[in-house]
This record gives sequence, C-alpha cells and structure tokens, in this order.
Amino acid sequence: MDLKSMTLTELKEELIKKGQKAFRAKQIYEWIHVKLIRDYSEMTNIPATLIEDLTKNNPLVTLKPVEILTSQIDGTKKFLFELYDGNIVESVWMKYQHGNSVCISSQVGCRMGCRFCASTLDGLVRNLEPSEMLDQIYAITRLTGEKVSNIVIMGSGEPFDNYDNVIRFLQLITGEDGLNISQRNITVSTCGLVPKIREFAETGTQVTLALSLHAPTDEKRQKLMPIANKYALKDVIDACKYFFEKTGRRLTFEYSLVAGVNDNEKEADELIGLIKGLNCHVNLIPVNPIKEREYKESSKAAILAFKNKLEKNRINVTIRREMGRDINGACGQLRRSFVSKKTEKL
Ligand code: SAH
Repeated sequence: MDLKSMTLTELKEELIKKGQKAFRAKQIYEWIHVKLIRDYSEMTNIPATLIEDLTKNNPLVTLKPVEILTSQIDGTKKFLFELYDGNIVESVWMKYQHGNSVCISSQVGCRMGCRFCASTLDGLVRNLEPSEMLDQIYAITRLTGEKVSNIVIMGSGEPFDNYDNVIRFLQLITGEDGLNISQRNITVSTCGLVPKIREFAETGTQVTLALSLHAPTDEKRQKLMPIANKYALKDVIDACKYFFEKTGRRLTFEYSLVAGVNDNEKEADELIGLIKGLNCHVNLIPVNPIKEREYKESSKAAILAFKNKLEKNRINVTIRREMGRDINGACGQLRRSFVSKKTEKL
C-alpha cells in the first residue's frame, strides 16, 4: 500500500520495519496530511537518509494538475488531474457562503451505465486509491490556497463500487491527525447498491447519504439506470430507512429532471407516495445534457411545478444551483472532452 493511503498506525509499522523510531510516523503523517507536501524533500525535520529511502521505495502519490478551468459565472473551478499511470480524473471546487466544497471522483470511469451520465460512457477503467481521492482535496487546497470545509463524493465513479477504498479515504480525511474534516460535512452519493448502503449504515457513520433516485417507479428507473434491474426500488428505500435508523442522518434524494421522461405531475405524485414520512430532502437537478444522448433538460415551468407539488406535501426540496455550466459542469464531461482531444492529436 502507498504511504499516503496508510493510517498513522500502519505508517508506524512501516517505519519500524525500516528500523526507524516510531515518533517519525507522526512527523511524516503531519507532513503528508496536514502540511500537504508534494515531495518528501519538503520535510525539513526528517533525516536525509530516510527521505532518500522513502523517495526510492515508497513513491508519494501526488496528482498532477493538467487543466484548471474557472467559471466566469460563479467562480467554480474544475480541475483535471493526471494519475501516476496517465489516467485522468476530474474534481470540482465550489465556493459557497458556508465554505468551500470539493466534489471528488472515486473511480476512473464507471460501470453503472446511467443513461444520462458522461462518466460511464466508456465503462470502468479502474478504482481510485484512497491516496488518489485524498490528493484531489490536498492538491486543490494547495492550488487555491483556501481551506476545504465540505466534500461531496459525487464526481465520476460509483463510490460503493469502490467501497473499501472510500471507507479508508473517509477515515483518513476525517481523522484528527489529518485535515480533520467533520463527517457531517461530507456526502457520499450512490446509485443505490443496497448491500453497501446497509454495510455503510452499520459503521455508525455521520456522513450524509445521497441516493440517486431519478424516478419514482421501478419501470421508469430501469430506463434511466441499469442498476435498477438489480435492486428493486422497495429494497433501495428500505436500505435508506435502515441508514436513517442507524445513523439519525437525514437522507438526500437526488432527482435529475429529464424533459418528458420523469418530470410530469404524475411522477411528482408517485415520488411523494414513495418518500412521504421519511426524514429526507430532495435535490432536483435539471439534467445537464450530454452530446452522446438525446436527453433534454426540463422546462423551467416543469421544474417549478414539480418542486411546488413536493413542497405542498411538505417535502423538503431544493433545485440544485447550477454551478460552472460554462465549464462542462456535468459529471465526467470535462475529462471526456480532454481525453478525446488528446486522442485526436496523437
Ligand atoms: N455514482 C454516484 C455518483 C454520481 S454523480 C451516484 O450515482 O450517485 C452525482 C449525481 O449526478 C448522481 O445523482 C448522478 O445520477 C447525477 N448525474 C450524472 N450525470 C448527470 C447529468 N448529465 N445531469 C444531471 N445529473 C447527472
């Protein structure tokens, strides 16, 4: 395992194996996870021989920024990072009144196949290591010079399809020896892998769970999300209820509105029937059209009518503010356009 993915205890063991004193672990951990170094040579209180050993035998995972786009509309920044093997991932930095939020990717590509999503068009390439998820945040902190207070795992990939690495990432980013970000300021978004939702509930986490619902019936959901063929909506909702019982955390349901597909009043009524009585919040996302698919964004009127209907039934609902639309805001679009531009050049 790479050093940046290790807990403090594991790092201690690694250093003891090298014949080092245990106290070095805390020092090095702080350099990596608090001072956010890019290179071991920046560690001024570590002996040169140890720095040499680490550089040679435990290369530090650091993402290389290859493109940074800043929205002229709202200051949102999109980052494209290159991984050690040449793969590219994207992350988004958003400035809100309550602090800076970063949306990270959990996989290169995705194998869930949601019809409207750009990240999944070429399937899954590979899982990200915990260090590669951490370094999206570390690199953005270094590059913007600003602290990150909120994290959403809503970029490319299905976090629960890379469950163990995501759990380790959460442990490291919320740990008091690292950036110590509050669990309550983190959201994990899933397309609904039922056994993993239940497993996550049992960890006693305080992280927010966001479920990508997108349709109120199995039939409609199956048209948009292949995963709905595997898990029935009833089981997905039951798993969400279980998550709430175990954690006490209010649930978020994401619902991307697609014109003529899932945005009429009947569907709003069905959605109300499905989630009424749950302690939840619905986030309506006007679908961000991708050129590979024919899906269109719902009209302003349809979006408002949908929202009003939910509100009348006393369901908490917000329309997601569109951030950075001018810079390929939707999941995976920027990476895709970058990777295909590069291929054209070759
Ligand atoms: N795999 C996770 C994270 C995906 S991205 C999940 O499925 O939840 C976060 C959210 O953006 C998901 O709800 C996803 O369905 C949605 N999304 C992806 N592409 C979109 C697009 N083009 N327009 C609107 N929402 C989109």
